[in-house]
Amino acid sequence: MRVIGNGPKGNGTAREVEFEYTRTGANGLEGTGETFRLAADQVFKAIGQTLEGTPDGLALKGRKIRVDTQGRTSLAQVWAGGDCATGGDTLYRNQRARDLLAAKAGELTVADLQEALRDHAGYPLSICRHVDAERGNSGTASIASIVMDVGARTMYVASGPPCSYEYQTVTVPGAVPSAVAPQSRPVGSPA
Ligand SMILES: [Zn+2]
Repeated sequence: MRVIGNGPKGNGTAREVEFEYTRTGANGLEGTGETFRLAADQVFKAIGQTLEGTPDGLALKGRKIRVDTQGRTSLAQVWAGGDCATGGDTLYRNQRARDLLAAKAGELTVADLQEALRDHAGYPLSICRHVDAERGNSGTASIASIVMDVGARTMYVASGPPCSYEYQTVTVPGAVPSAVAPQSRPVGSPA
């Protein structure tokens, strides 16, 4: 990410923010070289999941900027997104899960998936979530966890956060079909 100002003759305020797309490489996230820009005249950066020095009137939730589903904050004309705003954690969790599982690609086991779902990296915004208002997560928690092995008709269910609840094995009886015929017409199309 790069903040672009209004040039040496301007007053130093922000004009645009440039973002670079990333992909998962051998050593974690790496830039693809492809970028896009958004116009902005003020930028708040949150590094390490903690936000400091917020302006008056900007409502927070935990340690994050409170936003609605459109990214709108409590201040007119001010928008927020990513890790400094509420609701953006799933991107982090998704990337963390991908990184954990990619390391075992080709030989993933049910135990590997369960271990990834118990992960606490980035706590309290981790894959396995716990309500911890003091440390910036007052909103969401993992209340159950499920791994499904569809081919084996087996589910592994933890009835609470998987770091503290054992996965129970639930097997659906019946033979595993060798092939399932596709539907003759897409769901929702006219009969
Ligand atoms: Zn946990």
